[in-house]
Amino acid sequence: MNITSFPETKEHNSLVNSLDKYQLVIHTDGEGLITYANQNYLTVSGWTPKRIIGKSIWQMFSERSENQQVANSIWDRLLSGKAWSGKVEKMTRGGEPFFVNLLAVPTLSHDGELQSAFFLELDITEDIHLQEKLGEIAFIDVETGLMSRHKLEQVVNESIELGHHFSFVYLTIDHYFTMKELQSPDSETQLIQEFTNRLKRYFQDNPIARIDTNSFVVLTAFGDWYIQGFYEFLKQQPIYLNHNAQTLSISGGIVRFPEDQKTYIQLYKVAMTAADDVISQGGGRIASLSAESHKILNRRLEIDRKMLIALDRNSLHVAYQPQFDIVSDSINCYEALVRWEDEDLGMISPDELIPIAEENGLIEEIGAYVAEEAMTFATAWHRAGTEMSISINSSIRESLNPQWKDRMITILNDTGCPANKVHLEFTEKFALKAEEEQSVIIQMSELQNLGMQFTLDDFGSGYASLRYLQHLPITSIKIDRIFIDALLINPKTQKLVEGMIQFSKTMNLYTIAEGVSNEQQFQLLKEMGIDAVQGHYIGIPMPADQIDIH
Ligand code: C2E
Ligand code: MG
Ligand code: MG
Repeated sequence: MNITSFPETKEHNSLVNSLDKYQLVIHTDGEGLITYANQNYLTVSGWTPKRIIGKSIWQMFSERSENQQVANSIWDRLLSGKAWSGKVEKMTRGGEPFFVNLLAVPTLSHDGELQSAFFLELDITEDIHLQEKLGEIAFIDVETGLMSRHKLEQVVNESIELGHHFSFVYLTIDHYFTMKELQSPDSETQLIQEFTNRLKRYFQDNPIARIDTNSFVVLTAFGDWYIQGFYEFLKQQPIYLNHNAQTLSISGGIVRFPEDQKTYIQLYKVAMTAADDVISQGGGRIASLSAESHKILNRRLEIDRKMLIALDRNSLHVAYQPQFDIVSDSINCYEALVRWEDEDLGMISPDELIPIAEENGLIEEIGAYVAEEAMTFATAWHRAGTEMSISINSSIRESLNPQWKDRMITILNDTGCPANKVHLEFTEKFALKAEEEQSVIIQMSELQNLGMQFTLDDFGSGYASLRYLQHLPITSIKIDRIFIDALLINPKTQKLVEGMIQFSKTMNLYTIAEGVSNEQQFQLLKEMGIDAVQGHYIGIPMPADQIDIH
């Protein structure tokens, strides 16, 4: 071991040898780059002697922000010329956590600059695992003595079985991982214990669980006003850390059994969602969801849960709505629209389904399914010798995937559909994003080179629409239904639609009006010079087997 700054006495050498034998040892330079690691360290961490030299101590911690913060605070302490000690979680080269009791000591130059640092560590991983195991068995959170998450589940399920009415209150300490005051594991422990005391004093005999580093759950029959009073109580009872009063900000969500939710997992999820909403609005509140929000949320949860099953069981369908071309006086295209009817949830409209699918990622599967069906449909027309295009709605999340273009090409090949029979529709929201993403524009251009065309859907309903027309390979626009709805009622709308059609013509774009539902709208649009119309007046969306292919 290369500790040059110590005097070379016999005692010193034997101390160094002993440390080397029992401890994990690292030595860094003044920048935190590793200059030495002993065999124990290498064995536990899985690094090789060659590779570890020059790595930083931050790389010995996992990338999770709380662990990187620990590394920062150790380093700050060393920079200020002081030693640091405490329990920390480190990471092996393979990404596995291990736990150590760490002592970090600085060596300083004459003028107080950090020259090097020693890290002496004792591996306590087994103790920690044992503690966790014991905690699991005893259902107790070791640090606070509160119930563990496992015990909480049991208690909640018992209360549910007994039919007790209660509120499930999820509470989380705001900004926990970025609190400056938490410089050492000791102050963390102190904060959590003090916070626990406040919880116990306020909620008294009600069951309280710690479910995460900084998150807690209280089960109580108290009303909302009482639960929300905990926030005031915390303000009046600040926590002292290093003699400084700390007013904690907390965020929380309240969900009631049985009124709001009926199972442990739903109570948990919804209470967390309510707290997340609070956090996204800046935190500092304990909120309960209104009955209406609960209904909406429940339906969303159900749709989310059933979507994968629906995809697996082929219970999604595609309906096709005709688009009528004025010049040829015939239907020249069908728009593919996804349909899902569930026996419990009823009809789930695409407006409900698509945003959830975008959130849970299933939009890519749904998009691929619709594209496959639609291209099969277009191929059938092609084989029957009729010129018929199909139009498919696309979501930005699909196109952000670098494989988007290749997937489209695979579907074209698999279904035998000519690329020039396919239009992809996207909305202005998509366009806004696509404009920023070079990869999307490149993939769009490649698909366009194959013959695919792009339509800007819901034109006029979104943002400053005109800009996209310069950057994106768009060949047609669909004027949003809201303008068509008001066409015969509002003279200003009429002028606006006329303007849109004129503008579109000067840009050499093919202009479609959507949502055309009567003869008068149809005639007026025709006079204004529209290229095509779509809507209930022409035809409603229908399953493929009800459409005559000839
Ligand atoms: P969109 O692309 O603008 O589709 C037109 C919507 O207007 C369709 O609703 C259609 O049924 C409805 N519609 C058409 N003509 C009339 C009319 O005369 N009167 C009225 N009241 N409505 C009419 P739908 O099928 O509910 O779809 C809603 C939206 O969901 C679509 O708007 C589209 O943005 C999206 N969507 C549908 N299928 C898919 C899909 O497979 N993938 C993606 N990403 N989005 C889809
Ligand atoms: Mg559309
Ligand atoms: Mg539309």
